[in-house]
Amino acid sequence: MNLKINGPRGGLPREHDKIKEFIKHSSDILDLDKFNITLEVIVCNQFKGDFEDAVGLCYPWNDLNDITVELARKDSCGVSVDILETLSHEMIHVRQCANGEYMYENPARKHESFLLDLVMERM
Ligand SMILES: [Zn+2]
Repeated sequence: MNLKINGPRGGLPREHDKIKEFIKHSSDILDLDKFNITLEVIVCNQFKGDFEDAVGLCYPWNDLNDITVELARKDSCGVSVDILETLSHEMIHVRQCANGEYMYENPARKHESFLLDLVMERM
């Protein structure tokens, strides 16, 4: 699995190192390294438009070979959120996506806090 971490207009977000380490551990736990995919994580301050109620997005493109995760630092009310909590949820979707599965919400909600705990133990 290849990894790219970017700010909204390219460049490195300030959380770059933390996100990189989080993804390294979660990929190990979720066994994502076996997939020949490129994961791009984009961090922005707040989502606008259609997705303004969300704080995280995950979507595949290029025939499932590339997966993009977008993280927002603030929700639609301007309240700061923990991007690692969001990332934990989205990493479950990355696994579903890499497996060619539909991105179901229930398994992601069910496992996100367990994954977060396991990763935080390693950081
Ligand atoms: Zn979700």
